[in-house]
Amino acid sequence: MSHPVDSVGSVSDASSPAAPSALTPAQERTLALMRRADGPLVFSEDFIAHLVEEATAAVAELSARLGGETLWVSKSFLARVHGCEVLHLAPDEFSWRPATAAGFVAHKAIELALNWRGEPAPSQVVDEALARLADQPDQRGAFVAGLTDADWAELRSRAVDRCTKFLQDFPPLPLSAHPVLEASAKWKPAGTIELSGKVDLVVGKPAGRESRLLIVDFKSGYRSFHHRDDLRFYALVQTLRQSVPPRKLATYYLDYAESDAEDVTEGTLEAGLSRALAGIEKHIELTAEGRAPVKRVGTACRWCPLQAECPEGRDFLHGDDVVSDDGIDE
Ligand code: SF4
Repeated sequence: MSHPVDSVGSVSDASSPAAPSALTPAQERTLALMRRADGPLVFSEDFIAHLVEEATAAVAELSARLGGETLWVSKSFLARVHGCEVLHLAPDEFSWRPATAAGFVAHKAIELALNWRGEPAPSQVVDEALARLADQPDQRGAFVAGLTDADWAELRSRAVDRCTKFLQDFPPLPLSAHPVLEASAKWKPAGTIELSGKVDLVVGKPAGRESRLLIVDFKSGYRSFHHRDDLRFYALVQTLRQSVPPRKLATYYLDYAESDAEDVTEGTLEAGLSRALAGIEKHIELTAEGRAPVKRVGTACRWCPLQAECPEGRDFLHGDDVVSDDGIDE
């Protein structure tokens, strides 16, 4: 296995004679997008201090308006509150299904594959991942342990598909690149609001104030405008907790073997903060302050539990060829 993504999340010369095996065109394409173009990236200390100060003051003010409620702000919370507000206020009826659980099974399998002796077959690491997950004393473990034979087969098939695409099309990752799967970051200033981000993969080793981390989310469906918002939110949380922003954000589309990559800039972080604060404020208006929710039709209508009683949503679905934007994650 060649190791073109180095320990700073940048890219060594894949055509080097030292590389033990050639990369596929899909791997080359992804590497080209993720390559570090210039020298070391170091953000202004004043900018970071101002960003943290602004976020801390705004979250304290919003906390006071919540009236004691504890609020966990995640990328899915922000997607919901900036989407249909009626759906945002509906009870969360999420439960695992083979389609939604395939992401965490594939992550576990990839984690095993990265540390495997020799080159494992995707089905081999997926089977091992399922066995280990079934022993976990949490919701995921209970779901996997309680699967019917048919659901187990569907989950295995979906996870093998994702794991195979990752192993065949994504550039190889050496352990020296410090890859972390399902990486989480949290930031909790004074008050009752906590910002919490999770991404599929973080690559890179911190070094002083240099921005080195490459953040990657895997998606199994089509491109969607909110995928960049998800990654900008993670970059914001990472910056608030470490005072060092990541270097680059990339959404990798498994079915297409293509990436959408974005350099992290001051503008990226400011946009992430504005969107997060606006989302928290909307939630406060809708809950603590009693504003009437606004219906907004969109792809979420497809799986909305309120669809049967929502003519706007049904009309939208009849007139629109809605696409799936399921991620590898839940
Ligand atoms: S069907 Fe669509 S518009 Fe209607 S409540 Fe659900 S998400 Fe909102």
